[in-house]
Parts: sequence; structure tokens; C-alpha cells
Amino acid sequence: MKKAFILLALTLLSFCQPYNRLEIKEDTTQPHIMLVVVDGVRYQEFFKEDYYPYVKKHADIMLGGATNCFTNNRKNCSLPAYADIMAGADQNVVNNSFNGDLEHYTIADALPYNQVAVISYWYKLKRIVSKYKVFPPFYQVTDKEYDHHARYDDKVYEYATKYHGRFNLLMFADTDSYAHSAKVRPWKMYTSAIKLQDGYIEKLHKLYPNDIFIITTDHGRGAGRWWRRHVDRRDAKYVWVAVIAPQKYLFHFRDLRKKCDHITLGRTIHSILLGD
Ligand SMILES: [Zn+2]
Repeated sequence: MKKAFILLALTLLSFCQPYNRLEIKEDTTQPHIMLVVVDGVRYQEFFKEDYYPYVKKHADIMLGGATNCFTNNRKNCSLPAYADIMAGADQNVVNNSFNGDLEHYTIADALPYNQVAVISYWYKLKRIVSKYKVFPPFYQVTDKEYDHHARYDDKVYEYATKYHGRFNLLMFADTDSYAHSAKVRPWKMYTSAIKLQDGYIEKLHKLYPNDIFIITTDHGRGAGRWWRRHVDRRDAKYVWVAVIAPQKYLFHFRDLRKKCDHITLGRTIHSILLGD
């Protein structure tokens, strides 16, 4: 009787355990991708010596800079850029208010549910990540609720240490938020967010050393006094991509070396994950 009770208690306890992605057995022989998008970070900062020292020290591939790497969407704004990358095709997402049907499946749709981790606090990302399913932990933060003085990148990092699949999209967006909105010292807030991001990437790379890390941005920003803006600005078209990966995966990036844009980046990710 006592034995039966203990067994029952143990069974009940196991049902109460929180869902933990790490408990899912992953096929470690298959490539895992960590797509880290640092939102709205200009090439001017990425290529500047002081910023992203870890990424640049370890990068196997670095592309971009003035006129070498482009957004595909005309508006140079976030949601269309994420949509193009995730689908590897023009999704016809025209702006951040998009609420319609996507034209192409995304990587998140192509992979089994339990092998995708999309980690972001920007609720609008849900509109393009997956039509049918949304993997937590999305923060249900609306524009109204959004606090521009709060830091969310640290939470994205924290979740990324717990949730890990074959495809992981991490959206670090403090950079863009602060550049647009910090009422006090926007430049200082933007650059301090950049410095923290490099540290998060370093820790994640040490945690998942066999992953293919692709670090990029969704759009650039204006130049000079326009640096806080990006939509409709020609100089916001220029982006960049850095890759830190085990040597055996680097050949996948040959097309991207020839043509660096979001759609080619998306296709590269598809071909690595789906073995096309
Ligand atoms: Zn953005």
C-alpha cells in the first residue's frame, strides 16, 4: 500500500514538472542554428572596433558594410525583414502592422514543433514566425505596455539558455528600441545595449559550441543626424552578417558570399536545416 502511494505520488509529481525543452531528445548529429538578430544595429557600429569584439574575433565569415549587404524589403523595417529571412522568400509583408496571410511557409513551419525556439518579447513577430503555432516564451508585450526603460535582451538571453532546438531565432531588440525611443541619451543607451549583446552571444556560444551562429540585423539606420531613424531611408538598406560555425558547415554560405541579402540568408538557413 505504502509502495503504491509513493508510486502514485511520484507519477503525479512528474506531471507537475514544467515543460522543459532540454528534456526532448535532440538529434545532435544534425546541424543546429542559432540565428541572432540584433535589431537595427547599423553596419557603422558593427564594423567599428569597439563593438561586438567577441563576434568579430570568432567570426568565420563576415559580410556587409556600405552597399555590400541589403535588406530586401523596400521599407527597411523590422517585420518584413524577419519575414523574408524566415521564409527565404519575399513574404509580401509590407510593414510592421502586417496582419494578413503569409505567402510562404517559414522555417518554423517546416521543422517539428519541438525543434524550434523563437525567443522575443516583440509580440508582432508572432505574425510571421508561424501561421499555425507559436512556441513560447513570447512576451505578450504590446506597444502600449512596452517600457522603453526596461531591458528585455537579458530575458531573451536567459530563455535561450533553457530553450534550444534545431532552429533558434533570438531577437535582441533593445538596440532598436533605445535608438528610437530613449528620451534621455539615446546614443548611450543604444551603444550600451550593443555591448551587452556581445556578452550574451559569447555566453551562448560557449553553451552551444557546435551550433551554427548567424548574427545579423534586420535593417540599418540613417546616417548623421538621422541615425535614430530607418524606415524609408536609403542608408538603412545596408546590413551585415557574421557567421561563427564549425568548419564543416561553412560551404553552405557560398551563395550568401556572392549575394548578401535577407532572402539568400533565409534560403541558406533552409538548406542547412532541411538538407535541400
Ligand atoms: Zn528592427
